[in-house]
Amino acid sequence: MKAKTKIPRPTKVRVFHVDYSITWSSKKKMGTTLGLFRQGAQKIEISTDQGEQQAADSLHHEIIHAIRDAVGCCYTESDEVQTRAVNVGLICARRDNPQVFAWIDQVFAGGAR
Ligand SMILES: [Zn+2]
Repeated sequence: MKAKTKIPRPTKVRVFHVDYSITWSSKKKMGTTLGLFRQGAQKIEISTDQGEQQAADSLHHEIIHAIRDAVGCCYTESDEVQTRAVNVGLICARRDNPQVFAWIDQVFAGGAR
């Protein structure tokens, strides 16, 4: 069996038609903040002072902020709660149903007939 190649931490992500840079920043710069979505600057910043799973969770969370921003959701306290719910829900749904998401990805990649 072929070993899976470890994918490096991403440095960019496209959300709809907008490219965002992903910066991995130290605790010295981020403080206790785990992730930031900088709308106008097209930047997402993630703290390196967290474990790999928490970092992936933080990046996924900031991508959801970017999606919500792209469809016109203004940032409020309830936006944060909804973002957390969607973030955890999607991560768990993808983990628990890889075949479902593989099929969805296939359809949108143009591979299904
Ligand atoms: Zn948030």
